[in-house]
Amino acid sequence: MPEPLTVLDTLRRPMRDLRVSVTDRCNFRCVYCMPKEVFGRDHAFLPRAEILDFEEIERVVRASVALGVRKVRLTGGEPLVRRGIEKLVAMLRSVDGIEDLTLTTNASLLADRAQVLADAGLDRVTVSLDAVDDATFQSMNDVGFPVARVLDGIAAADAAGLGPVKVNAVIRRGLNEHAIVDLAEHFRGSGTTVRFIEYMDVGHSNGWRLDDVVPAAEIAAAIDARWPIEAVDPSYRGEVARRYRYRDGAGEIGVISSVTQPFCGDCTRARLSADGQVYTCLFATGGHDLRAVLRSGATDAELVEAMRVVWSGRDDRYSELRTLETVNLPKVEMSFIGG
Ligand code: SAM
Ligand code: SF4
Ligand code: SF4
Repeated sequence: MPEPLTVLDTLRRPMRDLRVSVTDRCNFRCVYCMPKEVFGRDHAFLPRAEILDFEEIERVVRASVALGVRKVRLTGGEPLVRRGIEKLVAMLRSVDGIEDLTLTTNASLLADRAQVLADAGLDRVTVSLDAVDDATFQSMNDVGFPVARVLDGIAAADAAGLGPVKVNAVIRRGLNEHAIVDLAEHFRGSGTTVRFIEYMDVGHSNGWRLDDVVPAAEIAAAIDARWPIEAVDPSYRGEVARRYRYRDGAGEIGVISSVTQPFCGDCTRARLSADGQVYTCLFATGGHDLRAVLRSGATDAELVEAMRVVWSGRDDRYSELRTLETVNLPKVEMSFIGG
């Protein structure tokens, strides 16, 4: 494999991670992500022709790997609702240079699919789970999906070699604060690390207010009060979760403080939406149209050049600049670019 060019953005950050959203559809309606009032029955999802096919996604991934990407994460919407996703996994597995090929899922369909995904070459999965009690979980996914099937999915992923599974939990004031200690208790000692995420002002359909954010420091304090924890050094530059270990040896937790302690200086992430737009920030108001480049018959070298131009012009640091005005800008939806 040729040595990757390392492309730096205007703040001298390399491109190391690519998040690929494979669909804008989802079988959940999480209240903080795809509220039913906005994503109702008549919501217009992307038509099939506008969505990148697997060959197109593979070409973009290869181009990004040529520019320095080492980690690729499939996301959505819900990536497991995209038909044949394991074929895409197998295609990406054959791209030289990808060190970590992962997928983020709500795990509703994971129990039946974990083995197929592992066989196709997926390295790991991250599961989003915001509570372990049914009443809270169902009020958050808003489609009455039972927590037991998500837990079955996690177990299946571990059994298939896709573990240790990481669990991501978004905490929103007044909705699931009690889930902080419940989730910690449920997964302590199991090998599964729970990462608690501050509720973010992504998109513009979730009616975000700063008062709804439970700060990471408060989350860590709630756990520390029950089972004392201590900080662990980050395992690599750009790790977004602050890590803590239980002093009694029962494993680790993480907290992701994108609102209260932003980490833009180390942000090495590019995002590809299902319709082929590249976003250089989770909070971007617009993307760069790679689908047009792909479908105009561009060569691989031209595709690499198009991505290089996008990344080298990048100056995003939204979380460091967040103000009341920026919160109200028309940003792209989380379910569109996959978190
Ligand atoms: N459907 C998959 C899932 O839920 O894992 C993948 C896509 S989902 C958009 C990716 C992640 O974004 C999930 O962990 C979800 O909890 C998180 N997320 C969505 N809206 C969020 C918000 N407003 N603040 C923080 N995290 C959010
Ligand atoms: Fe779907 Fe994931 Fe958004 Fe929930 S967080 S609505 S599971 S895309
Ligand atoms: Fe990266 Fe944008 Fe988040 Fe900052 S706000 S960490 S630049 S995605």
